[in-house]
Formats: sequence, C-alpha cells, structure tokens
Amino acid sequence: MQQYREIKARHQGSILFFRMGDFYETFEDDAVLASRVLGLTLTSRNNGGASDVPLAGVPVKAVNEYVRRLVARGYRVAICEQVEDPRLAKGIVRREVIETVTPGAAFSDDLLDCTRNNFLCAVRPAPGALAVAAADVSTGELRLATVPSGDADALLARLAPREVLLPKGGETTQWRAMDGALVTEREAWEFDPAMARDDLARQYGVLSLDGLGIGAEDEAALGAAGALLRYLRELQPGGVPHLARPIVERAGGAMPLDEMTRRNLELVESLRPGVDNDRAGTLLGVLDRTQTPMGTRLLRQWILAPLTRREDIDMRLDAVAATAGDAIGRATLREALDGVRDVERLASKAAAGRATPRELRALGDSLGRLPAVHGALERVIGTRDSGLGTRVPDESRVPSPESRLTVIAAAWDDCGELCAEVTRALVERPPLQLGDESTIATGVDTELDDLRALRDGGKDAIAEIQAAERERTGIQSLKVGYNKVFGYFIEISNAHRERVPDDYQRRQTLTNGERYVTPDLKAYEEKVLGAAERIEARERELFESLRACVGREIARLQRVAGALAELDVLAALAEVAEREGYVRPTLTDGYDLEIVAGRHPVVERMMAREKFIPNDVTLTQDARLVILTGPNMAGKSTILRQVGLVVLMAQMGSFVPASRATIGLVDRLFTRVGASDNLVRGQSTFMVEMTETSAILNTATARSLVLLDEIGRGTSTYDGVSIAWSVSEHLHDHVGCKTIFATHYHELVQLAEELPAVRNFTVAVREVGDQVLFLHRLVPGGADRSYGIEVGRLAGLPAPVIARAKEVLALLEGDAATMAESLGRVPAAGKRSRRRAPPADQLALFASAPPAAAPNVVPPPPHPVVEALRATDPNHVTPMQALELLARLRAQI
Ligand code: ADP
Repeated sequence: MQQYREIKARHQGSILFFRMGDFYETFEDDAVLASRVLGLTLTSRNNGGASDVPLAGVPVKAVNEYVRRLVARGYRVAICEQVEDPRLAKGIVRREVIETVTPGAAFSDDLLDCTRNNFLCAVRPAPGALAVAAADVSTGELRLATVPSGDADALLARLAPREVLLPKGGETTQWRAMDGALVTEREAWEFDPAMARDDLARQYGVLSLDGLGIGAEDEAALGAAGALLRYLRELQPGGVPHLARPIVERAGGAMPLDEMTRRNLELVESLRPGVDNDRAGTLLGVLDRTQTPMGTRLLRQWILAPLTRREDIDMRLDAVAATAGDAIGRATLREALDGVRDVERLASKAAAGRATPRELRALGDSLGRLPAVHGALERVIGTRDSGLGTRVPDESRVPSPESRLTVIAAAWDDCGELCAEVTRALVERPPLQLGDESTIATGVDTELDDLRALRDGGKDAIAEIQAAERERTGIQSLKVGYNKVFGYFIEISNAHRERVPDDYQRRQTLTNGERYVTPDLKAYEEKVLGAAERIEARERELFESLRACVGREIARLQRVAGALAELDVLAALAEVAEREGYVRPTLTDGYDLEIVAGRHPVVERMMAREKFIPNDVTLTQDARLVILTGPNMAGKSTILRQVGLVVLMAQMGSFVPASRATIGLVDRLFTRVGASDNLVRGQSTFMVEMTETSAILNTATARSLVLLDEIGRGTSTYDGVSIAWSVSEHLHDHVGCKTIFATHYHELVQLAEELPAVRNFTVAVREVGDQVLFLHRLVPGGADRSYGIEVGRLAGLPAPVIARAKEVLALLEGDAATMAESLGRVPAAGKRSRRRAPPADQLALFASAPPAAAPNVVPPPPHPVVEALRATDPNHVTPMQALELLARLRAQI
C-alpha cells in the first residue's frame, strides 16, 4: 500500500491500474469509481491490520476493454506494471507507470474511430487571437494554427478534439465546455514559447525551427505545441511517439466554418442522429466513396476546411476531372487502393513499438499495392497525352499539367525494399500476438530455423536415441519417456537391471523398474525444452528489430500515407461525380454566383433523383440579397442549403450537383437556422439565435455567403419581422455579402421596394381547389400568404379545426388590412430616407398602434379575439393547446 500510495500521489488525475500478478487492482477512491463505472465488485483488503481498503480489480487478459470503457467516458487511466521479474525481486516488486491512456492520447483500435482523427489540442489564448497545437498520436499528425478570436470556435469545431489542454488561470472559460472533449489544465509556464522552441528543435533534430516553416508569427502556437509535447512525454514515459513535421496552418488557406454552419449544412453529422447512424443524411455520407481509412479521414478534413485560393482548388478539380474522365483508369486506381490498410496508423504504431505481427504484415501488404496504385495513377495522367481515348471530349475535363495527380506522381515512392523486407520476414498470416504461432517465416534466420527443426524433429530424435540405446545395451524393452518432473528418461525394467551401462544415472525407482538419464539425453533435453522458449525469444528479437526498422521509416511512410489518402479522396470525388451526374464548377475571383439547375446532394439521394426538382440561383452585386418566401414545406430550406453545399463542394475541390455552376470564391460561409434546438447549451433558443446572428453581422465580409433560414422565428411575430428586416438592411447596406434569407414572414417582400439589390423569390405552390400542391420550383416574386392552414390539413388536423381556422384567418385578415394600410403608407412617405428614421418610427411599421406619424388615422379598437391571437406564438403551442385556444376564441365572438 505504501508503494501504491507513492505512485498514486504522482498520478492524481488518473485512475491507477496497479498490476498485481494476473490482475490490475484499483484501490480507495479509484476502486469506488471503477466499480461504479465498470460494474466491478467492490471488495476490501485488510492491509496489515489497519482499516480496510476498498479494492476492485480487473483480470490482465481483459484489461483493454476496461480501459476502453473508462477512457470513452473521459477518464485517464495510468497503467502501473511490475517492472522486474517477481521471482528475482528482493522484497516488494518494483512497479512503475509505463503509460497513461487518455481520450486524446490513444493508440488502441478500440478507442479510435478509423473514419476520423483523434486530436489532442493545446490551446493558448493570445491578444485577440487563439493559438492551437493539435496532435493525433495515432497518425503522427501535428498541426499549428493561430486564428483571430472570432474564428477560434470554428477552428476547434473543425478539429473536434477529444481532449484539450488549457493553461491554468488563463482566459479560457469559453473552451471549457466543448462538446465531448476532456479538459485538462496544465501549468501556465508549460505554454512558454522559448522553452517550446528548444523542445521542438530536439524532437525534430533540427537547429532552427525556420526549416519547419515555423516563423515569428507562430510564437503562441509554438508555446501550445511545447505544452502538448510535455504532456505527451508525461503520458508516455517510454518516449513520445513519432510526430510528423508540423503542418502550420496559415490564414487565407482554409475557410473557417463555424459550428452552426457545419451542423446546419449537415456536413459530417446529421441533425437527426440515430437515423441510420450519423453519416447517412450528411454530405460526408454522399461523398464518401473512399477505399481506405486514411482517405475517409482526409475527405472529412477537406469537407470541414474548404479552400479559398483559386489555384489550390483548381489543382484538385483538375485531378478530379482527369480521374472522372477516365473510367478504366479510375476503376483500376480504386481497385488498387481497395485493400490498402490504414498505413498511417499502422506506421505510427510501428514507430511507437506497438504494432502486432499481424499489423506489421498488413502494413507490408499495403505497401505491396503501391506499384499497382502508381500504375493506375500514371495511366490516368497519361491519358492526357495519349489522345482522348475513352474519355468524353469535354474541354473542362482535360487536366492541366499542374493537377494534384501530377504533384503526387512526381513525389511517388514505392517503398519497394521496405515492403520486400517486411513481407519476406513475416509469415503470410502472422498471429495476433507473438508466440501464439510462428511470426517469422522460414528461411529468414538460420538460428530460428535450427531451433524449429529441433522442436519439430523431437519425436524422430527420441526414436533414434531409443534405437541406439537398445542396440548398445541389448535390452529390447528399453524405452525413452518423458514426464514433467524428471524430464526425459530411459526406463529399464528390473529384469534387465544388470545390463544397465555405467554411464546411466538413476533418477527414479519404480516398483518394477528404474528410470535413468544419460549425458547425451540430458543435453538433448536441454536443447528441446529450451527450443520452444528460445524460438519465442528469437522471434521476438527478430520481430522487434524488423518493427523498429519500419518505425525508423516513419516520416517516409507518413508521406506515402498522405499520397494514398489524397489519391483515394480524389478518386472518390471523381466516382461520385460520375455516378451522381455532377459537373465541374468554374471558380472565379469575381463576385457573382450562378448555379443552373442546382440540386441538394443529400436530399436528392434520399429520393429518386428524377423526383428532385432542380433550381437556378443567381446572386450578383446588383441582386445580392434574395428574400425567399413560401409556405412551410415548400422547399425553402432545401434551396438555401443546396446553395451552401454547392459552394462548399466547389471550394473543397469537388464537382457539384448542378448542370452548370460559376462560383465567385467565397471567403466565409455562414448558415443560420432560426430556433434550432440548441437547448443543450442551456441558453434560450432565441438568445442563441441572436448571438449567432450578431456573430455573422460582425464577421461577414462582402466576399461571404450568408444563408439565413427563419431568423427571428424564436420570438413574437412583430419582433421577428422587425429583426429580420433590420438584419437584412444591415447585410445589404453595410456588409454587401451574398445573402439568401428564407422566411415565412411574407411582410419581408416589402424590402425589395426599399433596397436596390434585394430580389424576391418564392417557392411555387399550386392551389387545386382548396388544396395546395408543392412544386418545389423557385420563381421570382414573393409569397402573398403563408398557407399554414393547408399545411395543417396535410398534417392531419381534423376538418372542423381547419374550417374554423379559415374563419379566424378571415377575421384576422380584416384586421391585417388596417395594418397593410399603415404599411403601405410608409414607403409613400419617402423611400430611402424613411430608413434613416428613428427606430420608433420603424416599429410602427408593424405595430397595430396608430403610427405616430399619422395622427389622423384612427384604428378600430382591437377585437379581444385578435388580441388573444396576437399574444399567441403558433410555434410554441401544442396541438392540444391550439384546440383549446380555438374553443376559447369561439366563445368570445
Ligand atoms: P421549407 O423550408 O420551405 O419548410 P423544406 O426545404 O424543408 O421546406 O422542404 C420540405 C420537403 O420538401 C423536403 O423534405 C423534401 O422532401 C421536399 N423538397 C424540397 N425541395 C425539393 C425539390 N427541389 N424537389 C423535390 N422535393 C423537394
């Protein structure tokens, strides 16, 4: 217990798994916690007469599963091993913590999701900015980034770290509540850049960090990287696993996508998780035709970090175009990639000394596919020079010499000798663990071969010795046997006792005979019995040196993995483009956005494609703000999101679901949906909505694309319309960005009369009798009414309720006529100038109180039913309440 407490004192923040023979034990508070979380029986141990100590243990064999469960719940687990042979130990066996497993520093496949990175982020606030260092130890990736405070959330949302390191006492409260991340506080001095500089230089064996692309502007990120390395070193006292050279992310590279945009566009997670697990119903789900786990992870990164430089995007698009255009080349490439395993993680495991025999072989086999991948790549590139071949003679599909394919091909590395070494040394199907079966192939090592011959030849050798001894002694009943206590022996019955030669040594007396050994037999025995043990030791030695040799090639393997991942993503994008009928978008540095016959990639996949109605959307300087009205269910959100998705796909380098698309590059993309369910964060929905809206107004630029869906819905109609109105004005006048504003407030169509670059569009519906047919077609103009009652009918409201609602509506429309009167008069008072009027005047637009500017209009006193209806927010009543309300209203007329 004394030893336990000493070690525990050094690992306060972790659950300590204390190795005792065949168990890992937890004690005291750890035991109470472990028994609760893992459902273990809590026992107690009497430590030498003093009070009982709570105890809960798990068998060594099952430890991985228990560690996985604890870490998945956000705990750290410190593994404390016996570090000397208990048989040789004097007194208490020495024990040490050899590793601490945390959510952010995990290697085990059980803890990792192969489709996404597992980032550990260190975060260091700087004035007006946030610096982040992110490492994925399972892949060896290290990223440094410094972003303005406003983009901090977007960056962290993209990295989606499993664990975050924060300096103690810093201004970091806002990142404390990150979804699903374990927060670990570290001493503030650990984030010191000067110290980090030395640390990093040592880690990468360089004199100056300039060579790594780390400059003076990266000070803060460097500090974060220093803290990260120090933490990893603490978790892995045996040595920090290899990290590839850091990737320094610079502003202007990737587009920051905030969390709400990522969620609302359903990029990698569905808004309705659980429906066919997370990925169905997301852009990732549609685009993911990758063949390798590295490809899947990279695709996810591409989706979450669209590019903003035209040349970079065109290099990807060129590659997709070439691959899409060469059906056979593409099929060959994808076939070659199929069966390539997770080279990135396997190589990292090899470098960390954790790869199992089977994993090392998988790595070797994957490398064996490199020549085939290269061949296919050359074919796709070559098609460019060898005429059009099978390709569609389409200008847009002729790849430029600068495509990503060419770049990848120029740096190609087959890793031939490494592959040969691994596949030659290991048997074809090595066991999961060393020692279970043979790992090293025959013919690799003569010592090993001899040992195996010895072991396998055991039976023959015994038969030989027996025959030889029979001949020498003339005793035909002599036999060689084996037992556990005495080992190999020669047994001779009492009848032949006198003929036993002198060199026989007696070992055991039986009732009817004696057992002997001879020096020859003893020597043989040592050889055979030792053989099994020595085979294992020799195999371990050979395997570990092979693994270390592969591990030393880590930097090279990571480059290979990177090339494979990128090819995989490009081929996947080409495959989707061909299958789904996407086109190559034209990217320009201009402003205009023009999508012809655009479709929503996810919605169209969920229905038969021919059923999806394509729509055109154009946004130009002169028509930059679209007010999109139309009844619920008409397809407003779908159009809105499809515009966002088309732009995002184009900028990540993908073809797009449209018949033609010209896209003026966008620096940022914002998507907000009013009154979305964000209650998890504990803020009122409306508050959240307004916070998000203000974030857009503060950060959007003229080059941004802003998509607003029902902003203002979370409050009363008047508030809502007023806010929607003024937000639109601000975007139009001051920001100048491309905007689509979907709303069912048809009052907003008035804006087009006020502001020159506003256009009204509506999603067409056709009324057949008193039924409504949704055409899902975008047409110029505004909706004149909201068709809520028709939607109510579609939703199955009882006929009497519908009929009554129509009566009430007629009443209200009478009242609204008065309102329209006041609305109509305002523009007449002077168009643009009116907007400069004080807010009280603007509010009067929608209020039913007499406008101050028009004292001569005396409005009729409001009917109590009208009052009651006005006080009701239809978005926040249950169907039951609605029925009660109707009954009450009826009683009042
Ligand atoms: P709104 O935002 O106007 O309430 P949605 O965009 O949510 O409407 O669309 C409602 C439903 O209509 C969608 O779930 C989809 O099934 C269908 N829909 C929308 N747009 C189209 C379209 N262009 N073609 C076919 N069906 C569509």
